[in-house]
Amino acid sequence: MARMKSNMKDSLKVKDYRSRLENAEGYGEVWEIVKATVKSSLNERRVGMMLFLDDLPLRLGAYHSLGTNNIVLNRALVNIVEAASKSKRLINSFVYVLLLHEYLHALGRPRESQVRPLVYKISRESFGPDHITTQLAELGPWYILKGIPLDAMDVPKRVIEIVKDFEKADKKYII
Ligand SMILES: [Zn+2]
Repeated sequence: MARMKSNMKDSLKVKDYRSRLENAEGYGEVWEIVKATVKSSLNERRVGMMLFLDDLPLRLGAYHSLGTNNIVLNRALVNIVEAASKSKRLINSFVYVLLLHEYLHALGRPRESQVRPLVYKISRESFGPDHITTQLAELGPWYILKGIPLDAMDVPKRVIEIVKDFEKADKKYII
């Protein structure tokens, strides 16, 4: 009986996260889901992160510099995903997987071998095994760009920008 109850709770959680991700508008809202799913799966959180957008080589999705609060997301790559797919669910899933990866680094896991399996575990627990987010977590976010000749593409280099109000919803917490 207790097991059944917890299964039902899990499936409600999955439904809720799926619909939040599908409807998220902008980086700040996807970020809220990243933090909520990490809190739910690992019971860890960190506030005060900042997001920057920059045009980076297309084989790099994002990075976090150790000892800073900064995550830098590859705007050029996100733009290509946006051009290739009109599905908000897919674009948000792509951004979610990249941001989740960097958040896990920022939570004190420097190694890829620690972060990658956790990105998969958290995605699976939050969205279910058959969701596109979990597939991207398993196969790598570049999976959705297969067939696009990234190496032959010219990437415009624009100035780096900060995402305003990235952590808007967290301003009430002072830690
Ligand atoms: Zn990494």
